[in-house]
Amino acid sequence: MKTDLSSASLCLDCRVCGAVCTAAPVNGLRPRDVVRRAASGDETLETGPEPWSCVTCFACTEQCRAGIDVSGLLYELRHRAAARGLIPEPYRAVARQVLRTGCAFPAGRHTARMRDDLGLPPFAVSPRGVEEVQLLCREAGLPDPDARPDGKGGTP
Ligand code: SF4
Ligand code: SF4
Repeated sequence: MKTDLSSASLCLDCRVCGAVCTAAPVNGLRPRDVVRRAASGDETLETGPEPWSCVTCFACTEQCRAGIDVSGLLYELRHRAAARGLIPEPYRAVARQVLRTGCAFPAGRHTARMRDDLGLPPFAVSPRGVEEVQLLCREAGLPDPDARPDGKGGTP
């Protein structure tokens, strides 16, 4: 689903989104600046680090005084960047892992031990399950994780 970036123009500049942002203290993401740049039609947002700096905790969306879906706006910027092939390598690696195994993270020894303690069978995704995940990814429009930005190679 596409998010309309025009809602960004409703920003009241209250800065609450920045105060509650989980990513801000870690990587310097400033959601209020993203919203204001989106409101001014700044397309360089799609090629910068901002869309990939958000950890999608939704705190900004929950707290926004103007009712702006700030996290949805960041998702939309991420979709636009991905459509241009501007996907950072760690995200490509996760996409490849999902397409290959049906899981975002490998189930390691710790998981195996916990499942054993709980009396659960060993974790496994059936080949049919992997196919279904691949189908879902295709239907959802997941870009080819090996596609390069605008056909030029490299990642942001
Ligand atoms: S969803 Fe992203 S931008 Fe919003 S508060 Fe969480 S990390 Fe920050
Ligand atoms: S919380 Fe909403 S209104 Fe306040 S600065 Fe952030 S985007 Fe603007």
